[in-house]
Amino acid sequence: MTPEDPGQQTRRPSGGLNLKRFTSPGKGSWANVSNADWNDWRWQLKNRLTSLGQIQPLLKLTPQETAGIQLSGQKLATGITPYFFNLVEPGDPDGPIRRQVIPRIEEMDTAPWEMSDPCGEDSHSPVPGLVHRYPDRVLLLVTDRCASYCRYCTRSRLVSGAGDHDFHPNIEGALDYIRRHTEVRDVLISGGDPLLLSDEKLDWLLGRLRTIEHVEFLRIGSRIPIFLPQRITPELCAMLRRHHPLWMSIHTNHPRECTVEMREACARLSDAGIPLGNQSVLLHHVNDTPAIMKALLQKLLMMRVRPYYIYQCDLIAGSAHLRSSIARGLEVMESLRGHTTGYAVPQYVIDAPGGGGKVPVNPEYVIYRDHERVVIRNYEGKVFEYPEPQLDGPPPISSRPAPLEEVESPAREA
Ligand code: SF4
Repeated sequence: MTPEDPGQQTRRPSGGLNLKRFTSPGKGSWANVSNADWNDWRWQLKNRLTSLGQIQPLLKLTPQETAGIQLSGQKLATGITPYFFNLVEPGDPDGPIRRQVIPRIEEMDTAPWEMSDPCGEDSHSPVPGLVHRYPDRVLLLVTDRCASYCRYCTRSRLVSGAGDHDFHPNIEGALDYIRRHTEVRDVLISGGDPLLLSDEKLDWLLGRLRTIEHVEFLRIGSRIPIFLPQRITPELCAMLRRHHPLWMSIHTNHPRECTVEMREACARLSDAGIPLGNQSVLLHHVNDTPAIMKALLQKLLMMRVRPYYIYQCDLIAGSAHLRSSIARGLEVMESLRGHTTGYAVPQYVIDAPGGGGKVPVNPEYVIYRDHERVVIRNYEGKVFEYPEPQLDGPPPISSRPAPLEEVESPAREA
């Protein structure tokens, strides 16, 4: 391989930080813990860091973080697995991993336009734990617990048990609703994190859903491969594969989350025939630059994970310090299309505040359009014209516009 080889270049450190390399965070402060315990997901859960007293001896906190952790019990609890904590940047309070899981006092500031339920899920819930917002699919919330808590969580009103939301899903009622609503062909199981349920409980739930004839397709939304990859055991994968077609949406925000452990967990899921898609949230000082986002998306492909969505961060109360701008999101998207593999380009969406559903937002590639032609620009800024087929017969000659100057002939993407 020559130094000019592009494959070599992508693996070379960039600015001292090799974002594309898969590394393991190791045991860090838990060096004395046996490998058997460290690799046991139940041990990881039992030893989660949930309080100032546990975190302070391990990490030099800023005053904003100290106050944030102290107050987090009022809103969204603190919770970080030891495995994921070892990815937190000790010397950088603005580190991209640190910002996602270490609370800050800014979470207590709420702007007038921020909401506790920004996607309007509660108003589209016919049965506790079930959200029916789109015509042919439902969201089934099965637990309010996660392996670690993301400080920008859209469902912070209900996850972690810290808020005043009374989360008691009615699973039998939800199954009955799905059975009676024959238009529901797709069930997304989420929470909280459904992979925190035991294998037996998940097996039961997936099995019950599979008995409903019109349910064609099951999905699980989970951040477990990122926070607790030890949970993706061969036994779990063997159980999941009995319920195909089953897909999984995971949630990765930064290339450093893509560790050796996560790669192996994703490989076990893929080998069990589960297609993996990734959803990222655009977060300020985490992934709102073209270089970071591109490294993440390319690294996901290396793990057989297809980038699916980039979400504009919802208007969740107390998230202003983490939200990036739509202008930044568009800049990131512009840097992807045409500049990297099409499979690496997700859809950028805004979940319309208050419950309007996902709305795609894209850089503008259509410059002009009428019934005869569409003028477009490509990723290099070159302009092209595409003649519209005249399905109802050609327009009269006199009404045809003169050809645009400097318009190039169509080119195909390789
Ligand atoms: S894993 Fe998902 S549900 Fe849990 S805190 Fe993070 S974003 Fe919220």
